[in-house]
Amino acid sequence: MEYISTRGNVGKIGFVDAFLMGLADDGGLLVPYEIPVVSAAKLKEWQELSYQELVLEIFSLYTNDEIPYEDLKQMVYDAYATFRHPEVTPVHKLKDDLYLLELFHGPTFAFKDIALQFMGQLYTYVSRKQNKKIHILGATSGDTGASAIEGVKGKEGIKICILHPNGKVSKVQELQMTTVQEDNVLNLSVEGNFDDCQRIIKDLFADLEFKSANRLCAINSINFVRIMAQTVYYFYSYFQVAKQTGNSDAKVNFSVPTGNFGDIFAGYLAKRMGLPVDKLILATNENNILERFIKEGVYKPGDFRTTYSPSMDIQVASNFERYLYYVLGENPEQIRSLMDGFKAEGQIVVSGDALGKVQEEFAAHGVQGQECLDTIAAYNKETGYLLDPHSACGVAASDQQAKAGSVTISLATAHPAKFNEAIELVHIEQEFPAQIQALFNKPQRQTQVDGTQEAIVQEIVKFYNA
Ligand SMILES: *Cc1c(COP(=O)(O)O)cnc(C)c1O
Repeated sequence: MEYISTRGNVGKIGFVDAFLMGLADDGGLLVPYEIPVVSAAKLKEWQELSYQELVLEIFSLYTNDEIPYEDLKQMVYDAYATFRHPEVTPVHKLKDDLYLLELFHGPTFAFKDIALQFMGQLYTYVSRKQNKKIHILGATSGDTGASAIEGVKGKEGIKICILHPNGKVSKVQELQMTTVQEDNVLNLSVEGNFDDCQRIIKDLFADLEFKSANRLCAINSINFVRIMAQTVYYFYSYFQVAKQTGNSDAKVNFSVPTGNFGDIFAGYLAKRMGLPVDKLILATNENNILERFIKEGVYKPGDFRTTYSPSMDIQVASNFERYLYYVLGENPEQIRSLMDGFKAEGQIVVSGDALGKVQEEFAAHGVQGQECLDTIAAYNKETGYLLDPHSACGVAASDQQAKAGSVTISLATAHPAKFNEAIELVHIEQEFPAQIQALFNKPQRQTQVDGTQEAIVQEIVKFYNA
């Protein structure tokens, strides 16, 4: 498989080059030249595979033999060896027609582990094979940072710097990132919000001279490998639910707590690959720019709000451009002009047939704070299950948007222990897993910086060149 940019001025390039490039050099996002389509017969064969076997099947469609099969296999098995559940991403039946896909059994208790533990292996592999130093730079609303650091801490040839918004991540998220003692890790606690962090690093990646001089690599979902890795659990959960319902080719809905449009774009890609998906239900919190896009066709960032689900506190969704590219018929000139317009006027408007297509593929619901807490309380009371606030947004959106009688798989993106701030508000006492409890006794390492590009560049250049 080869890769091209949504803006038309990169490509075709190979898998490893696309992985290392992250953000496309023309400022766009990399997408596969052609989406691989999986036949119904192949889907039947895949039903019986283990999670790791399925990963290998799907990745092989995208890596196109650039990585020897045995090497890929080793990385895949190593990446998922640290997960606490033998199925990696098991499904849990919440009630008739509603299944939870538990994505939080990895080392940092959120779904980011699924892609990032593999990417940690892949960066280490590429660094060794190409004898190359790799400097990872990423922005996090909390979970990406912890997971990426976990994936590469102490690895030779790799340094990682993560920007998080000061005071706007949960306590456990902060501790997971900042209690790591390895010297190849730098945490920058930035004055500002996640959008500020993301904008600054996107600008640094767009500065090709700076990017190459500092050997920058991306772990945010601007990197296509993240999306690729996240398609797997859409397939896997579909097969597990089909076994439970006894209906092996019915369409299902997926409800997805959304911030950067990365995870739900992986669902869209799985659908394009041939998975029988009915609606993709997009769940947001009060930062609901994407809900408004689905309902009205207007993509326009509003005021930033701090919510109970901080990992979704995002206004500018970096993966949105990938979806625009597809829904508008894969026309790079049009994407260039829309993105230029967005820079100048601060909005993108989609109407007519294109909006019709958006609404055929997606439903959306913006979950307000109280609704999120009420959902956690209600499901805990009725089923004994404790949802984290992000997963609760997914479930609330499913309850509101799924058609009666259709089966929905709602993505549980984090373990509730990561977000005890919200759980306490519904007066539920939870017991922390030992790995999380242990964080509270460890010393923290982080550097506070102003939210300016200058201040951040100074810190990262010093760190990467030390
Ligand atoms: C990152 C994250 C999300 C949002 O995922 P996107 O790919 O940014 O849409 C939702 N829930 C949790 C717990 C997360 O960490």
